[in-house]
Amino acid sequence: MDPMLAPASTFSASTLPAPDARLLALTDQCVMCGLCLPHCPTYRLDNIEAESPRGRIALARALATGALAPTPSALLHLDQCLGCLSCQKVCPSQVQYDEILVRTRAALAEKRPAAGRGLPDFVRHALHNPARLTALARVGAALHAGRWLPSLARLLPKTSIWRRLAQTQPALPRARHLPDAKPTQRTRGRIALFRGCVASVYDRDTFAAGQRLLEALGYEVVATTGTHCCGALPRHAGDVAAAATEATRTREALRATGAAVALVSATGCYGDMRDQVLAGSTTRVADIHAFLASDPGFAALRFKPLAARAALHLPCTQVNVVGEVAAIRALLARIPELAILTLPEQPRCCGAAGSYFIEHPDIADRLRGEKLDQARTLAPDLLLTTNIGCRIHLGNGLRERAAHVPVLHPLALLAQQLENSPP
Ligand code: SF4
Ligand code: SF4
Repeated sequence: MDPMLAPASTFSASTLPAPDARLLALTDQCVMCGLCLPHCPTYRLDNIEAESPRGRIALARALATGALAPTPSALLHLDQCLGCLSCQKVCPSQVQYDEILVRTRAALAEKRPAAGRGLPDFVRHALHNPARLTALARVGAALHAGRWLPSLARLLPKTSIWRRLAQTQPALPRARHLPDAKPTQRTRGRIALFRGCVASVYDRDTFAAGQRLLEALGYEVVATTGTHCCGALPRHAGDVAAAATEATRTREALRATGAAVALVSATGCYGDMRDQVLAGSTTRVADIHAFLASDPGFAALRFKPLAARAALHLPCTQVNVVGEVAAIRALLARIPELAILTLPEQPRCCGAAGSYFIEHPDIADRLRGEKLDQARTLAPDLLLTTNIGCRIHLGNGLRERAAHVPVLHPLALLAQQLENSPP
């Protein structure tokens, strides 16, 4: 019998705090129809009910009522949810799976030992501190260059998170950070480009590209002074207090830029920027692709031809949270001779999912393997994706296969092919 299925009374561990009435009401909306199951990446792998949305909702309810104890097995099934929201997107009952997951993880956070919370504390803290993250990334890159890190990592147990961290060390982009906000002579208006925390280190080539495209359209591009986080990482880990603090700081910092609109290029940040950080704010939030595609000046930009085959990987957050897929395709269609290849819709997720690919390597690598096999049949010259986690995870997988296919953000490709200079 799976210990997850044992009733709470058989465990000495105490159950969760007083039932969360809102959580119970949310779980009650699930009619257990199972229509979401074929869309769930973790369920599709082995057809295990506890690895499905329906199974996890039942689990969340049982934990909340105290019918089930928070055993390691129960926690693992919840932790192994990618948070991709493919289930929420297709649910006919409009079950708010995202809120169920966050509320459950928040309630469980107090119950679990620090050692069971995934990333080591200093790595988790570094994710919110770009200076520390940059320093760590530089040390890792130097050790990688000398082949020390992979060799050392192989001495660690296969299940060690340190081994995984050492093996997933991404390269730092060459591009520099955007300059901090400075009042300058503007032309068509001031735009704030949201940089985030992890993305401000690993996705800075994308920000440089976005800045170049926006300036070619005549906008003044600014960023917040200092570094700000949308709160998605702590919120999805169940630390709602930390997420709310981050959201407040970011809202104030964006207001201080004086920009009427904040553009987001990192798909993982968009939902929290829209629903938490800037909900009710005078600063409008927009997806950068939709903003560029709807700008009447974009049609006047000129792009150099590129005779290449580009496979477009659409991240879960792009499809399930941001939308605007047509805008990305419309932007890329402006590059003459570029062929955009479409990957199969399932499995949607490549396994990256924030820090998931570090914490759950087995599932993450199986999903990535399927995605890369699909990509290989298209024989692309390059892979495009709008999420920094997908770029890192897919890039690592391609390196392991010795496949020389660059992985780029679509904005980086557009900026690379742009002929115009700022007006
Ligand atoms: S989450 Fe929605 S689609 Fe999935 S089983 Fe429940 S009601 Fe059905
Ligand atoms: S969020 Fe994704 S991985 Fe989690 S239950 Fe829903 S579909 Fe499955």
